[in-house]
Amino acid sequence: MDALNIDRVEYRGKFLSVVRLDGGVAEIRLDRQGDALNKLDGAVLAELDPVLERLEADSTLRGVLLGSAKEAFLAGADIQALQDLLGKTPAERSAFCRDMDTVLTRMEDLPVPVVCAINGYALGGGLETALCADYRVMAANAQVGFPEVGLGILPAAGGTVRTPRLAGSTVALEWLSGGRSYKADAALAVGIVDAVAAPAELREAALAWLHRAVAGELDWRARRAQRRGPFALDAAAVAAVRQRAQPLAHDRPAALTITELLERCAPLSRDDAFALEAEVFSVLSGTPAARALVGIFLSSQLLKKKSREQATGARRIARAGVVGAGIMGGGVAYTTAVRGTPVLMKDIAQDALDLGMNEARKLLDKQVGSGRLARDKADAMLASIVPTLDEQAFDSVDIIVEAVVENLKVKQQVFAALEARVRPGTVLASNTSSLAICDIAAPLQRPQDVVGMHFFNPVHMMPLVEIVRSERSSPEAVATTVAYALGMGKIPLVVKDCPGFLVNRILGAYFTAFLQLVRDGVDFVQIDRVMETWGWPMGPAYLIDVAGIDTLEKAMAILGKAYPSVMATDFTTAFQRLAGEKRYGQKTGAGFYRYETDAKGKPRRSSDPKTYELLAEVQPNGPQQLGDEAILDRMMLAMLLEAGRCLDEQVAEGAMEVDAGMRLATGFPAHHGGPLWYADTLGLDQVLRRSASCRHLGGLYEPGEGFRARAAQGQRIFEPTTN
Ligand code: NAD
Repeated sequence: MDALNIDRVEYRGKFLSVVRLDGGVAEIRLDRQGDALNKLDGAVLAELDPVLERLEADSTLRGVLLGSAKEAFLAGADIQALQDLLGKTPAERSAFCRDMDTVLTRMEDLPVPVVCAINGYALGGGLETALCADYRVMAANAQVGFPEVGLGILPAAGGTVRTPRLAGSTVALEWLSGGRSYKADAALAVGIVDAVAAPAELREAALAWLHRAVAGELDWRARRAQRRGPFALDAAAVAAVRQRAQPLAHDRPAALTITELLERCAPLSRDDAFALEAEVFSVLSGTPAARALVGIFLSSQLLKKKSREQATGARRIARAGVVGAGIMGGGVAYTTAVRGTPVLMKDIAQDALDLGMNEARKLLDKQVGSGRLARDKADAMLASIVPTLDEQAFDSVDIIVEAVVENLKVKQQVFAALEARVRPGTVLASNTSSLAICDIAAPLQRPQDVVGMHFFNPVHMMPLVEIVRSERSSPEAVATTVAYALGMGKIPLVVKDCPGFLVNRILGAYFTAFLQLVRDGVDFVQIDRVMETWGWPMGPAYLIDVAGIDTLEKAMAILGKAYPSVMATDFTTAFQRLAGEKRYGQKTGAGFYRYETDAKGKPRRSSDPKTYELLAEVQPNGPQQLGDEAILDRMMLAMLLEAGRCLDEQVAEGAMEVDAGMRLATGFPAHHGGPLWYADTLGLDQVLRRSASCRHLGGLYEPGEGFRARAAQGQRIFEPTTN
């Protein structure tokens, strides 16, 4: 927006100013002082209310233009303030909504037309504020949407009331329960905005709409009348949204509640609908899921900030290298190239290089096919991956990711050859999943250049990368690797060099609990059902089949040796029995389940009597019945106690990092926050009590020092001041 004409400023406060324009028009400019963003909170509304009151009483006023003096119109609620609100009583939460309604309705009911200019973005409360205007003009590069459902709540500043009355129930259901952001053309197509303008012409375009309304060319009064009454509900759209929302109900519990709310508020007047919205908000915002999801949002922001700090002092990466063009190496090369860094990819086998390049080509073609990438850009990306059989050119790279076979001797040889070839300071990063980084670096001249960079499969999809800092890794090598991961669009998590690092170590405890349950005769299908009902996208047996029983058997052997009191198994495990029959899971067509390919080419699981025969051989006491709750306890306690031990040993920097790692790499259900958040939800004294009843099962259920000490002092893990 253009510079303020000081002579015409009628009001200037902490959050907004009012400027008088010609023709009886007042312009409200949102402009939070001392902040780059306009946010919606109680303080803004407290300032807006008397401003509106004055405008209401002004008989010379003909129209109001609502806009922003910042780069974006209005980001949603201040999430920190939202977190505080979640801790209040239901009555206080409901009153908060009613207070917002009072102020925003005052704007909606001004005796003159109101036009809103949306620049940058208007999300959540930002869009709800914009919806109070009679007309909205949106900058062509702006975005709007309701992200609240992702936080386990609903748009509580009139979003569920105004959206269906403005754009119809089908659009409202999709927008409110889907949580997506929309571009200007999409918002225009469904009537959420009335016009789109070039960013530089936004204010003038919005003013032109206002002048037309003031001149009576637009029937703004009829529009208002429509927004005050009931709306027609499209039953088919309700059913469709329910069907879509049901399978996601664990992580997005609010989607179904929003759908139900729209059904209930359809026959109501606007003002009755506000009351209902506030009531439902106060219930939703009191759920553990909302607390967990809001906590996750805040911790992701903190994590991003920390990662940027951890990248301080990084060396520039103009070119990267990958050694080993298999599943992982190919994925790393592709993801590097897509993000604009040229990459050299080496293997010892031409076939492997061809396979790696073909995979990259397929992924790029898919993006071109779906219209997300232009053909010439895709070709340039592919051309920036240079396959090679020799390491000559590695003297020109700044970082190398090694992804050859999981064998210490082979990796040491590869690293020695690379060290002799590269410039000092080039980071040598291993993608090992089970070897110690210090062992790989031990024979080298420059162990300070060696770090771990543990990606998850498939590399281009999985957001997390563990950056493993060995005792000898230099701060520059760690910082450079963090920067490289950020440049690939990944979320880096710096972890200690210990067996399994963070994620696989905690998963190791979870799988140990599973193996014990199967040994004790519990049906793996029941275990999967219990864990999937709790919110995991896949139960443990299914997850194990997908990951590969052969790979996991080896990994568990390493973890058992590294953490004997917790993860060693002194019995023949289900993994050993199934692997002995070459039933490795999905890749061999059978593991715990049997797999057949469906019409779309996707593997479908079904139960297999043969599995029960094989498992009977490793169940000394035969099949046993165990209640769902006991199964859930044994699985989840094992996981959260191991997470607690990792916290004690500072495998990751803090509780927030431990939980983020598990969510991002394993599909840990977001609405439970993470293993440590879940421990807090149960209460640490409860965790100790329940684990005491599993103590006969071994060290897996032995709480670490940190849990005991906190429980003794009545503390939580996520104290507001600790993370
Ligand atoms: P893979 O078998 O698919 O690929 C290994 C590649 O390395 C092959 O193409 C092979 O030809 C090549 N290779 C072997 N020796 C080489 C050498 N001396 N120089 C250059 N290339 C050589 O294996 P993968 O699944 O991609 O695993 C690679 C590494 O990543 C392993 O350390 C593994 O533990 C780790 N990892 C794997 C996964 C996974 O899910 N597959 C996940 C995380 C980490």
